[in-house]
Amino acid sequence: MRCIWLGILLLTVSNTALSAEVNIYSARKAALIKPLLDVYSEETGVKINIVTGKADALIKRLELEGKNSPADLLLTVDVGRLYRAKQANLLQPIRSEVLTNEIPANYRDAEGYWFGLSLRSRIIVYAKDRVAIDKLSSYEALADPVWKGHLCVRSSSNIYNQSLVASLIANAGIDATEHWARGLVNNFARAPKGGDRDQIKAVAAGQCDLALVNSYYLAGMMSSKIAAEASAASKVALFWPNQAGRGAHVNISGAGITRSAKHRDAAIQLLEFLVSDAAQQWYAKTNHEYPVREGVATSELLKQWGDFKADPLNLMLLGENNIEAVRLMDRAGWK
Ligand code: FE
Repeated sequence: MRCIWLGILLLTVSNTALSAEVNIYSARKAALIKPLLDVYSEETGVKINIVTGKADALIKRLELEGKNSPADLLLTVDVGRLYRAKQANLLQPIRSEVLTNEIPANYRDAEGYWFGLSLRSRIIVYAKDRVAIDKLSSYEALADPVWKGHLCVRSSSNIYNQSLVASLIANAGIDATEHWARGLVNNFARAPKGGDRDQIKAVAAGQCDLALVNSYYLAGMMSSKIAAEASAASKVALFWPNQAGRGAHVNISGAGITRSAKHRDAAIQLLEFLVSDAAQQWYAKTNHEYPVREGVATSELLKQWGDFKADPLNLMLLGENNIEAVRLMDRAGWK
């Protein structure tokens, strides 16, 4: 009898010891998540360890480590990457009423492999002094020959562009999207180079008049303490594409529990914390993103941008169409 009680006690202790820790592989910079995790650790006593790195490198690392990986949670941006991690068998499905109730169905995996935590849109940025706003309408219209030599956009190897093209495939099919991509490439002002911020700087410097960028980069430059960034941002404006139709393309930052997770329950509880009101507000605001949950306030800067209509497409389709998108961009000559 005493032996049984001791056994149960030990089991309880070891469970507690195991669950008092969560290991995160994060493709987001520590500054964008660490302060929030510190609050969580303080409140719950759960110790959180973060390894940061580039998304593709972290996914590779999970593959190499296999079931011996110490990671419990993979935190990354763009659904295309979460989908790849799922396809590579690096994530496990979980059930959580909190997560399924709080996160809209189009921003999480139907089987529970990954969950969106914040939202961003891929927007059109234009030169205030050279482009009349009534000339802008949609992603599709950017392929019109009227814009020949006017557009800046980064490389097709970038996941944000791949996901945008995947959304166009979901909407119009491969042939129509390939036709569009050829038109878009014809309108490039220069061979793709640099990141999204560099496209905004190029518009400000007059190298092009239009650019496709993620919303938080513009917001980040607008509120930047670096004079050159703030000055560049002041010369451009934001246009929400496809407002008369399906809405602007949106994507997520998100997370999934790893296949190897040794602290699965603790990791689920942490994810549930990340969709709570206060966490959503902080997490979205820190990178100028939108909360994934409806009804959570956005930052003052994003409030000034006003409401926009988001494409309600289920983001799982962006993952499913990713390979076709990459091939299509290649055929269209998008470097
Ligand atoms: Fe980014």
